[in-house]
Amino acid sequence: MLIVSACLAGLNTRYDGKGCIDEKVYKLIKEGKAIPVCPEQLGGLSTPRCPSEICGGTGCDVLDRRARVITSDGRDVTENFVRGAYEVLKLAKAVRAKKAVLKAKSPSCGWGSVYDGTFTGNLIRGNGVTAELLMREGIDIESRG
Ligand code: SF4
Repeated sequence: MLIVSACLAGLNTRYDGKGCIDEKVYKLIKEGKAIPVCPEQLGGLSTPRCPSEICGGTGCDVLDRRARVITSDGRDVTENFVRGAYEVLKLAKAVRAKKAVLKAKSPSCGWGSVYDGTFTGNLIRGNGVTAELLMREGIDIESRG
């Protein structure tokens, strides 16, 4: 079983209340091979919501308490992001997921690059909070979108 970002499965979980369906991911869902998760919703954030970025580092630094996740209007949502990541991990362990297909660039799901915390579209190398946690637990990540 795979874990996939809910927005890639076509669910309207993004901060702007929209989805971003990926046909490959949707096919996995239809075939019963994948479970959709949205770590930001699982962490207690509403939809739609203010966009957030990691300030002062990447998902690695957030998990290690060296960086924070901040909304575009200045609210600290670090605890929501960390809680959501651990909720996804709980589910991944329950279904013995070996792989996750996650949405690119997101402060939760991003893999390889994330926005730099300035809300200007700049990317830096690193992973989102959930992607980082799943990687640390030995789950392979594929980035889409
Ligand atoms: Fe949720 Fe991840 Fe999609 Fe953002 S990228 S809406 S956190 S599933």
